[in-house]
Amino acid sequence: MSAYVLTIDGKAQKVADTFDVLNPADGSVLASCPQGTLALADAAVASARRALPRWSAVPDAERAAKLMEVAALIERHHAELSELVTREQGKTQSGPGANYEIGGCVAWTRVTAGLTIPEETIQNDEKGSIVVQRKPVGVVASITPWNWPVLIAIWHIVPAVRVGCTVVIKPSPFTPLSTLRLVQLMNEVLPPGVVNVVTGAAEVGTHLASHPGVDKVVFTGSIATGKKIMASASQTVKRVTLELGGNDAGIVLPGTDIGPLLEKLFWGCYINAGQTCASLKRLYVHESQYDEVVKRFAEFAAAVPVGNGLDPKSLIGPLSNRMQLDKVIDYVADARARGAKVVLGGERKEEPGYFYPLTVIAEATDEMRVVREEQFGPVIPIIRYRSVDEALQRANSLEVGLGGSVWGNDPKEAAQYARRLECGTAWVNQHGSLHPLAPFGGVKNSGVGVQFNVDGLKEYTTIQVVNVAH
Ligand code: NAD
Repeated sequence: MSAYVLTIDGKAQKVADTFDVLNPADGSVLASCPQGTLALADAAVASARRALPRWSAVPDAERAAKLMEVAALIERHHAELSELVTREQGKTQSGPGANYEIGGCVAWTRVTAGLTIPEETIQNDEKGSIVVQRKPVGVVASITPWNWPVLIAIWHIVPAVRVGCTVVIKPSPFTPLSTLRLVQLMNEVLPPGVVNVVTGAAEVGTHLASHPGVDKVVFTGSIATGKKIMASASQTVKRVTLELGGNDAGIVLPGTDIGPLLEKLFWGCYINAGQTCASLKRLYVHESQYDEVVKRFAEFAAAVPVGNGLDPKSLIGPLSNRMQLDKVIDYVADARARGAKVVLGGERKEEPGYFYPLTVIAEATDEMRVVREEQFGPVIPIIRYRSVDEALQRANSLEVGLGGSVWGNDPKEAAQYARRLECGTAWVNQHGSLHPLAPFGGVKNSGVGVQFNVDGLKEYTTIQVVNVAH
């Protein structure tokens, strides 16, 4: 029997089947995980529906206080959760890895717990009053990916629960264990049925996204799956928030003193071995300093230790699963075949686990798949440009728009260019930093809706106008 359990209606469920979760650092079986089914998904939705009337009626301040308790509980279990994330997902204990992820969970839970949506009075005079109130949307299905499994679970669950919704979460089958543990911990504090978890692959996700008992789907994952979820959700006109893939561009302005920016540029590209939706995935550098930037960036990256995430010396871990590793190998092969120059990495050592070396690709062009598509690995193609207008046009030429960045000596000048990027977040002299009060989401195919702050809370509500004649 697995040590990990599905929690439905506040109780651990008896589940007949299990599947193996692998450790990406060596490919060994880490644990067997209870296998969710459509029937268990139905039970989870029923539990969330039963819990909804009572939870949504709990006074606002009490719900906030409960979430503060959840934050404290996660903080107490920080070491356990962080180690579990490293073991099942691969990211390192050191640097911006698993400890950073769990720290983020605590911070986001606390900040979100402290938010409220104010009631809005449109009119209040002798003729009458018009008030806009927000009501919880109802039962929320959350479907999460494998790259930041616990943090993304928190980003889905906490705002939903904060406003009075109840939740059924389905984690990725690659990284279910940390979510199972997170939900088990949440159930020590929250009433039964407020947060339920069911495992499973696409069919359980589809079932939840089309389930008549679910009012809203929040999904983080690939664009292809996001489109299917939107279609499934349309059957019952569910609300959706979709946080999908991107292919963020970074532009280094001509004459930039690159030395002081190298460390931030490195993490912008390679955080979590490049498996981050809003990481820098194609870097445009002016022809006047192209060779210098390629050389200095590759030298910087060459010195960063890659290894088992449990080793405190490692700053970058393996890729999270075999499927992702194979994709990255294909992208680099395609770039080579089209004439790119691999100046760092690009050859995998024969070793256990899903390691891929930090890779820098020079002489990259917009036709290469590694530039056109989201490669989601520790690979950065560097592309030459002639004018900033041309670089902006090429950065904006794709049908995605999650993040983007401009790098330069004068942050104010760089910010003017950054505003012209077609994306949800435009950074200057950094890439990928998030703040729990800064709304985060994508434009174009990168998503629908935003997360964080009051805008993020509103995504879990519906508007009701109360219009009273005096
Ligand atoms: P994925 O789309 O393959 O899977 C995500 C989740 O959807 C998993 O739980 C999976 O089991 C489930 N799923 C698969 N098919 C489904 C279907 N037909 N119906 C319902 N659910 C289904 O994504 P992934 O490979 O786990 O994650 C990587 C992707 O996520 C990348 O594209 C990345 O950019 C994106 N991402 C986006 C953000 C963001 O905030 N925008 C954050 C992290 C990751």
